[in-house]
Amino acid sequence: MTAQIHGITIHPTKYSTLGCAFQTPVQPQALPVPYWVCRNAALAREIGLNDEWLSNQELLETLTGNHVPTGLQPTASVYSGHQFGQWAGQLGDGRALSLGQFENGIEFQLKGAGRTPYSRGGDGRAVLRSSIREFLCSEAMHGLGIATTRALCVTGSDAPVYRETLESAAVVTRTSPSFIRFGQFEHFSHNNMHAELKQLADFVVDNFYPECRDSANYAGNPYAALLEAVSLRTAEMVAKWQAVGFCHGVMNTDNMSILGLTLDYGPFQFLDAFNPDHICNHTDSLGRYAYNKQPNVAYWNLFCLGQALLPIIEDQELALAALEPYKTAFPNALMTQMRTKLGFANPSEAFEGDRALVETIQKLLAQDKVDYTLFWRNLSEVMNGKSVDLVRDMFIDRAAFDAWMLQYSELLRQQIRRLEPYLMLKNNPKYVLRNYLGEQAIRQAKLKDFSEVETLLKLLQAPYEEYPNCERFAGLPPDWAADIEISCSS
Ligand code: AMP
Ligand code: MG
Repeated sequence: MTAQIHGITIHPTKYSTLGCAFQTPVQPQALPVPYWVCRNAALAREIGLNDEWLSNQELLETLTGNHVPTGLQPTASVYSGHQFGQWAGQLGDGRALSLGQFENGIEFQLKGAGRTPYSRGGDGRAVLRSSIREFLCSEAMHGLGIATTRALCVTGSDAPVYRETLESAAVVTRTSPSFIRFGQFEHFSHNNMHAELKQLADFVVDNFYPECRDSANYAGNPYAALLEAVSLRTAEMVAKWQAVGFCHGVMNTDNMSILGLTLDYGPFQFLDAFNPDHICNHTDSLGRYAYNKQPNVAYWNLFCLGQALLPIIEDQELALAALEPYKTAFPNALMTQMRTKLGFANPSEAFEGDRALVETIQKLLAQDKVDYTLFWRNLSEVMNGKSVDLVRDMFIDRAAFDAWMLQYSELLRQQIRRLEPYLMLKNNPKYVLRNYLGEQAIRQAKLKDFSEVETLLKLLQAPYEEYPNCERFAGLPPDWAADIEISCSS
């Protein structure tokens, strides 16, 4: 059965064909008097929505969960997972429901449209604040070239939602080729549902990793090949997070995408001053998900996935072997990112002195608490002809910076690698979604002024470009930014 939404055809998700062990039919719960908060015209065009959707009342109601088009059966998926290092048991889509997929195979979900059988005492709602953050950040990541789920729009309602304080409700429409998490595999494995585990793994291989089916690696075992393939995508994703200074904040296994996409935006943060130990999640008192822990946590999560797949890989040695490539893929991917930021031609090729160059600057950035995004952007400007003082003045220890600059130019002078300065401006963003920028936009949105969200969306979707009169979005954060506390509460 298919349905029509504003003239486009919606199909049941491929995932829904897996059957009732994997999901439960649900109905969204209506919200009074919905309004548009923000809309993503670029993504709408990709899906095939014409521009009239921006003012379509029926679509507004549908994407708030007030109306389910005939022919669609919303579902919530079941999964389990490890949270903060502990087995948490069954979780599931407690406030997300899948509506269907577009012609191009992209699925879409409403997040915050009410309770499901997996709500576990939660209210099934999302607040305006966290919904705007998810909307803007997923588009920012996409703009940065980092694999992510995306967001089509946020709708709001003045219905009250209780968190630490009284807030108002919102619904994010998010899209992805699939929302399958490591936690789905853990769920079926932990519950000894090995037929379903195999069914899920076959589904993922056939739809997203077909090359694993006939791989000669791992004695022709497609599930071991899948584990390696997921590890490599995860390595690539985390390397890009580290290079851009992104902290996810809640890298629980239920928030890890089987496609290596950044998923479930909660207390995330882009670093302001460079601090490798930075903890962005106020709830994470032990710093399990600190910025510099992310690469190892990803590996720990992949290990959980490997354990979950063991009943169908059927060979512990093979599973362990499939996890091994992460250990070289991550550092290699990270160094490729850093060589790209430094402007070297052929950035995927290592050369002598590259690692030392990166480690030295990271040490200096941390020591002098230099703003991470501004440093790289200013360095790009300097290599494109601006005065070196632009970046030199960011350091307290100028002598140490001068020595590093000498190291950098020495590598260039020796022609060990050619520099492509123009590419630096294409790889070191001018705009990232700093916490305070999100906070300012949210404050205005609470007063029903959504213009700042719109402006940020424009800048973040193409964050390497220059925009007239937008310098205020590209400067140092104000002092009050340090006091913003972001928790899991959303
Ligand atoms: P998160 O920390 O957002 O990844 O959520 C962890 C789990 O809690 C998932 O199963 C969510 O669906 C569920 N959850 C989070 N917030 C709510 C809520 N307000 N109502 C119901 N379930 C929720
Ligand atoms: Mg989650």
